[in-house]
Amino acid sequence: MSSLDDLYRRVIMDHYQRPRNRGELNGEALTVNLNNPSCGDKIQLQMLVNDDKITDVKFLGEGCSISMSSASMMTQAVKGLSVEDALRMVEIFTGMMKGAEPEDVDIDLGDIEALQGVAKFPARINCAMLAWKALQQGVREKAE
Ligand code: ZN
Repeated sequence: MSSLDDLYRRVIMDHYQRPRNRGELNGEALTVNLNNPSCGDKIQLQMLVNDDKITDVKFLGEGCSISMSSASMMTQAVKGLSVEDALRMVEIFTGMMKGAEPEDVDIDLGDIEALQGVAKFPARINCAMLAWKALQQGVREKAE
């Protein structure tokens, strides 16, 4: 195992064991529930969107370390972003899961980069994508 794989594994386990933005939002939050039947992962994603900006986002759920750490990383990354930038992050992440090199993107992915190895395991891609699909669905509902 390379030291980079080891580092990525540690970042993933850190988000799994100490999830960021785990919980529920009060008030008129947009709520999306999604599950990934192939693995049994479930997520409830809630977000507050004001003036086209994601001002708060929280999630609840249960599932494998990939699905839960990805949800934690996603909420950390998109909180405070404009809806447009958040959707761009979804596109970048989707590309990464299809094997695109993160070096090709011009924004700082932070901890998300730790999930790039998932692209090599097709069975786990749906786990990693779950929270991102929920985000995409939520902001599209808001836009309608
Ligand atoms: Zn999973």
